[in-house]
Amino acid sequence: MEIFDVTIIGGGPAGLYAAFYSGLRELKVKIIEAQPYFGGKMQLYPDKVVWDVGGQPPTLACKLIDQIIRQGLTFNPALSLNEKITSIEKQEDVFIARSDKGEHYSKTIILAIGGGIFSPQRLTLFENHLENVHYTLKAPSFYKDKRIAVSGKGISVFDWANAVADVAQKVTIIISEGKEKIPHELLKQLEEKAVDIFDHSMITQAEMNDKNRIISLRCESKEKGLTHQVDEVLINLGYDRDFTLLRNCQLPIQTVENSYIDGQPNGTTSVPGLFAIGDIIKHDAKLNLITGAFQDAANTVNGLTQFIDPKARKTAMVSTHNTVFKERNKEIRRKLD
Ligand SMILES: Cc1cc2nc3c(=O)[nH]c(=O)nc-3n(C[C@H](O)[C@H](O)[C@H](O)COP(=O)(O)OP(=O)(O)OC[C@H]3O[C@@H](n4cnc5c(N)ncnc54)[C@H](O)[C@@H]3O)c2cc1C
Repeated sequence: MEIFDVTIIGGGPAGLYAAFYSGLRELKVKIIEAQPYFGGKMQLYPDKVVWDVGGQPPTLACKLIDQIIRQGLTFNPALSLNEKITSIEKQEDVFIARSDKGEHYSKTIILAIGGGIFSPQRLTLFENHLENVHYTLKAPSFYKDKRIAVSGKGISVFDWANAVADVAQKVTIIISEGKEKIPHELLKQLEEKAVDIFDHSMITQAEMNDKNRIISLRCESKEKGLTHQVDEVLINLGYDRDFTLLRNCQLPIQTVENSYIDGQPNGTTSVPGLFAIGDIIKHDAKLNLITGAFQDAANTVNGLTQFIDPKARKTAMVSTHNTVFKERNKEIRRKLD
């Protein structure tokens, strides 16, 4: 039975930075992610320009994800993708994290599970995969000179329409709700961009071509029915969040509002040895941003290192003195010279 110092559940920004920092502290680390890819919620907004990460000039989220993953894998942690942890228990001093793929043994656990496992809610009409139905927003250039239909619920539908209307040939919003709650300023911008809004309307039919693409949508309201020719269809109905792990866990993990772990800024929870970081933890100083996830991870790994070995240093050595960087520093300097 292989026992890790720390097993990190969740491969978003918090989990990945914790994997890096655990390497810095020379811990034996494993990271487990339910999705087939790392990046967490950032995968929902790959083409958003992110401005507020320290030391990072504005950049696309997808580029930032690549960097965060590269850094997270610096010290070659053990990895498992496509594995959803469904329960954790503790036997004597060892935690056992279970999934339908097997068991993982660890001296400590970091829960970096964000808002749970996200999956976009699908329009029942489009349950099968269709080439031109999208549940995340791509870069505006993708929509250039195309006819776009945007449907779903809430203000995000209007935000997405506004984002693509600058470049698209035609944008049509189809929503079952009314538009009364949408800010006047946003509606004015959409009007200026000649976006058609069909509220209190439903998509009732889709015509397909032989390439598995929708070519037209039938949209109906009480008063009338219209058919719209489309090149791309954007759907934003919100996301399902899977919290099976928190619901199933037999350990006495204290939660807040049913979906957050009650914890401290150093990641400690009501279960000694089980830590929480990133968007899943709640405390007064919590910052639900990428920067906050990084700080949680560093503080927690430092505390956890002392939990495993009370004689360990309180914090990691900086890169000048830390032996884990010695060879890497030489290589980087060689490349820079
Ligand atoms: C639309 C949007 C825009 C945003 N824009 C910004 C921004 O501009 N700047 C900024 O700083 N922040 C932004 N944020 C917030 C930022 O994305 C989050 O704060 C950050 O992703 C939190 O990281 P995390 O690792 O805690 O959680 P997440 O990113 O949610 O990652 C958690 C990971 O855990 C996995 N997981 C969950 N349960 C299990 C399980 N049982 N087993 C295995 N794996 C599991 C999930 O699949 C997921 O990959 C934005 C968020 C959204 C939704």
